[in-house]
Amino acid sequence: MNEQKPGKVYLVGAGPGDFGLITLKGLQAIEQAEVLVYDRLINENLIYRAPETAEKIYVGKQAANHALPQDKINDLLYQKAAAGKIVVRLKGGDPYVFGRGGEEGIYLAERGIPFEEIPGITSCIAGPAYAGIPVTHRECASSFHVFTGNFKDELRGLNFPNLAALEGTLIFLMGFGNLPYITQGLIYAGKPAATPVAVVSHATRSDQQTVCGTLADIEQKVKEAGLTPPAITIVGDVVNCRGQLNFFEQRRSPGVLVLRDARQSSPFAKMLRGAGFRPVICPVIRIEPLGLTPKLQDAITNICRYTWLVFTSPNGVTLFFRQFFAAGGDLRQMAGLKFAAIGKATAENLQKNGFRADYVPNSQISDSLAKGLTEKLTANDCVLLPRSAIANNNMVPMLAAKCRVDDVPLYDTVVQTSCRNELKTLITSGEVRYIPFTSASTVDGFYQAIGGDLSILADVKCAAIGPVTAKRMQELGITPALTASEHSLDGVLAVLKEDTQN
Ligand code: SAH
Repeated sequence: MNEQKPGKVYLVGAGPGDFGLITLKGLQAIEQAEVLVYDRLINENLIYRAPETAEKIYVGKQAANHALPQDKINDLLYQKAAAGKIVVRLKGGDPYVFGRGGEEGIYLAERGIPFEEIPGITSCIAGPAYAGIPVTHRECASSFHVFTGNFKDELRGLNFPNLAALEGTLIFLMGFGNLPYITQGLIYAGKPAATPVAVVSHATRSDQQTVCGTLADIEQKVKEAGLTPPAITIVGDVVNCRGQLNFFEQRRSPGVLVLRDARQSSPFAKMLRGAGFRPVICPVIRIEPLGLTPKLQDAITNICRYTWLVFTSPNGVTLFFRQFFAAGGDLRQMAGLKFAAIGKATAENLQKNGFRADYVPNSQISDSLAKGLTEKLTANDCVLLPRSAIANNNMVPMLAAKCRVDDVPLYDTVVQTSCRNELKTLITSGEVRYIPFTSASTVDGFYQAIGGDLSILADVKCAAIGPVTAKRMQELGITPALTASEHSLDGVLAVLKEDTQN
């Protein structure tokens, strides 16, 4: 009998939104997932931590609009695990806090599927914390109570007399639409109308916003501020601690938008943080490797044919070597090759793979690379140019004037506009002070994501990594207020730093 051994399901809490607020164990589970089933409100960078080969399935819900009904989700988890897969079910906050994680676990347990729950940091504690509100505090709250404010999903509404009698902090999730019902219910049940209330929306994310008031006026204040869900409502004297504990919203460092592919955002984000900036991650492009195409296979099989291997981006190096080894390549085949890299980061990446660049131009632009190389090439040379499918086209004719050039596409750059709404809010709310463009394709992706509405850029400064990017910006009507003199991420950082000192 050919019986499939079941896989396993990990019910993982993703935390409330800030990428760093996931457990180490949760991240390790994502990194070994074969199937990733995820909800709305999950930090996008977590999804990119799954292996590229993992099947990624979005089952999120938006208010009443269920993307996939719960019984279908249960069954999906079951089917994938029964087929032998390692499944990660990634849920916002903690899976067992209003997350239906229990139902999913029971469904799997009843069918003999091994599962494990990896708790997450729940928004009902982390959300208030990021707004400067401790859920308990000596002298003002020795307990806290968490309720759902969405009564459609519950058999009973809230028992306001019982709630009003509690001494501790009251916390409501999913209650944004029912805020007036909650505040009035509490007042009628005897809670003083002057009780402090805070509503925290998009907690722990870069667009977090908090509004404070009292049971009597919070509804009006929330309306005036234009808050949107998801939001948490906190009722109690602990709200008053915010004056001293509001570490997150009082960040003074200027926000810098990071538009690159989500998998590449973290090194740049780290550099920005190190230089005192606040990275705001909103990818508008995605790098899609093209895999082992026949052209690439041919170049790898016949690698000895070439005399120069030329790289125009760090991505190109990573993807080339990945495919080289996957196709059975051996580094000894490259012993006679010379290597060229467009700049420092590409050369460093090359060195990680065991090769020192023989040539790096002074200026990190493709025309300089091509010009410098042509001075070294003779008719007997043969150049392999593995790079982006949408790369600059001057290079090939310049090099081909000297010798044979094989231009081999490794990856495509695809525009991604999923963060469109978030992007506009971040820019117009003053969250972002700088928008650095690190390639012409991020300019295109950004322009599409904002729907061509350049008026939102009135209060931000746009920066270009180099002349090619600056030219693309100008073509679309975006003014490069700053241009890096060294055309690298370090150069971008330097020009931003210099600007903050003016
Ligand atoms: N399991 C989740 C809660 C799921 S219910 C947890 O432990 O956090 C969904 C509700 O959680 C939303 O309606 C909202 O009230 C709250 N919520 C989740 N993430 C939030 C965030 N980043 N900011 C504000 N509220 C959030």
